[in-house]
Amino acid sequence: MPRWIESKAFVLHSRPLGERDKLCSFFTHREGKIRAVAKGARRLQSRFGASLEPLSEVHLWYGEREGRELVTLRQCELIESIFDVGGTPEGEELIHHMVELVDEFCPPHQPNDKVYRLLRAALSCLRTLRGRQAELLRLYFDVWMLRLSGFFPSVDRCAECGGRISREEPVFLGLEGRPECAACQSAGRGIILSPLMRRDLRALLSEPPERWIARTGMEIWVSQFMSFLRRFISVVLEKELNTERFRGFS
Ligand SMILES: [Zn+2]
Repeated sequence: MPRWIESKAFVLHSRPLGERDKLCSFFTHREGKIRAVAKGARRLQSRFGASLEPLSEVHLWYGEREGRELVTLRQCELIESIFDVGGTPEGEELIHHMVELVDEFCPPHQPNDKVYRLLRAALSCLRTLRGRQAELLRLYFDVWMLRLSGFFPSVDRCAECGGRISREEPVFLGLEGRPECAACQSAGRGIILSPLMRRDLRALLSEPPERWIARTGMEIWVSQFMSFLRRFISVVLEKELNTERFRGFS
């Protein structure tokens, strides 16, 4: 007999499996990332309907069997769809990016309430976005994802000499995630975080996304920091993200 489990979840991927079924992955609140077979989901009048779109939030019931990695989906009810934002190119790109980061950073079967709440906050913010704010929301999401995965360090102390770095001083942050004070700063690759950037990043880690992306004066550092983040994430994951490869061709 399978063990039946009920959980809220975000859809990550779904792809055809044979003629009738779909193979899906979800980030569930209760058990983290799981892979599931949705029987009959390819049929026109499937009971799963349109609930299997990436980053839709759903209520799941599924059956687990001892020793098997794949679970069987019994029911999947839509809580909230991102259909309304998926239509814009910025919205679409951001959704793919967020799916990819959750997929890469969250190991299977490890629940993470903070990542779950980050996703929900970012998606609710995504619904209200205007223009360039998509880039800021992406930055917000990336920094938090790195932080919650243990890769984004506190930059208040120098990793080389151990000294405190005051808020008025710049910090060098290397691609290995080591913060260094001005005196110790090595010649390695990385970015210099000015006191202004440090202030805005402190705010990022204490404010909800819709408030943070509405801050003014950040445009002078955002592009440079975004390109640092792209390289930083590819060093952490030891690979280039698909969303970055795609960007390279467009
Ligand atoms: Zn130092």
